[in-house]
Amino acid sequence: MVSQGNSWIQQFLWVVGLLVLTGGSCAGQAEQPQQLDGREGRNLALGNFRPKPTLKVRQTLLEQAQFPVVDVHTHFRYRLKHDPERLDEYVQLMDKHNIAVCCSLDGKLGDTLDAHLEYLHTRYPDRFVVFANVDWQGDGQDDDPSTWACHQPGFGEKTARQLQLAVGHGVSGLKLFKQFGLGYKNPDGSLLRIDDPRWDPIWKACGQLGIPVIIHTADPIAFFQPIDETNERWEELFRHPEWSFPPEKYPPRESLLEARNRVIARHPRTIFIGAHMANSSEDLQTVANWLEQFPNLYIEFASRIGELGRQPYTARRFFLRYSDRILFGTDGPWPELRLTYYWRFLETDDEYFPYSEKEFPPQGFWRIYGLSLPTRVLKQIYFENACRIVPGVKSRVANYRR
Ligand SMILES: [Zn+2]
Repeated sequence: MVSQGNSWIQQFLWVVGLLVLTGGSCAGQAEQPQQLDGREGRNLALGNFRPKPTLKVRQTLLEQAQFPVVDVHTHFRYRLKHDPERLDEYVQLMDKHNIAVCCSLDGKLGDTLDAHLEYLHTRYPDRFVVFANVDWQGDGQDDDPSTWACHQPGFGEKTARQLQLAVGHGVSGLKLFKQFGLGYKNPDGSLLRIDDPRWDPIWKACGQLGIPVIIHTADPIAFFQPIDETNERWEELFRHPEWSFPPEKYPPRESLLEARNRVIARHPRTIFIGAHMANSSEDLQTVANWLEQFPNLYIEFASRIGELGRQPYTARRFFLRYSDRILFGTDGPWPELRLTYYWRFLETDDEYFPYSEKEFPPQGFWRIYGLSLPTRVLKQIYFENACRIVPGVKSRVANYRR
């Protein structure tokens, strides 16, 4: 018995050792990803794949946009952390690239809003406008939704009054993050409904105050699909499993988008901007249908040139047809190289170029093609549409051009 027991333990330790070596897979040493380098007849792990295109085609290096740009989707609180030097550096980059105005979507509300306005407006009052955010949580506890501000009576009306004050302080819009529909919860543990009538006073107030609502709802289709060998975004989801919204834990993407659309339909006097191509850039016909259906809907394409640039014929037709409803956005501040890809995507007919400076591009493991948009359309998308619908932008663009 004793010797048998020893051998069982030895076997167990051997298996544990093997699991450690293989990183938890039972496939054996030959399958270690670092050894799957594709050389000398070995297989190649996707994470080791670094293809260098041999294609020789024209590369247009654009160091600035052709017209003044209004970037309606930026995060100056989350990305620059209120660091004044980084702000100075980015404004220099804005000057160099012909970005007239950035809309920072991280305003929040109350004192934190004032701190953000001060950060941007003290030195650069003419280069930034700020969007506020709904304070769903208030003083509530992280892990107890029943204590959150949004579940107390009169929350919608109270937020509407806060927004009125915020507009008095110079706020130009309201931004909703994707957690609205995918994160924030009701006291019973279910997710907040986007079209819950409790929030109607908020949407109504934005219409009355003349400020647009930029709303991020759902996410790319692939993030709602299983992470398996058929998922076209597998490489990213493998590195960021937290970006996945599997059906057993989350509502279907379509139901979130439908709930958002019911809100847009219910508030025709409020302008809504569907962030990230209304999160349906894989299916532009559907976005077109929404634009036809809802005259108060606009869209912006931050972090979606990867998606649009792999369907350049369809995307170009779409941009020509809806040029008065599309706004420019990046989701930045980004490194300079990323900005140049935006100009190249919109202005050139360059082929098969990267859309991100990252070794593994963040929105799909592929390259893109330029749309070569005509001057008239570039002007609308770069600044004219934003001047029309975002308060405070028109005068800033005029000052910038002077
Ligand atoms: Zn964003």
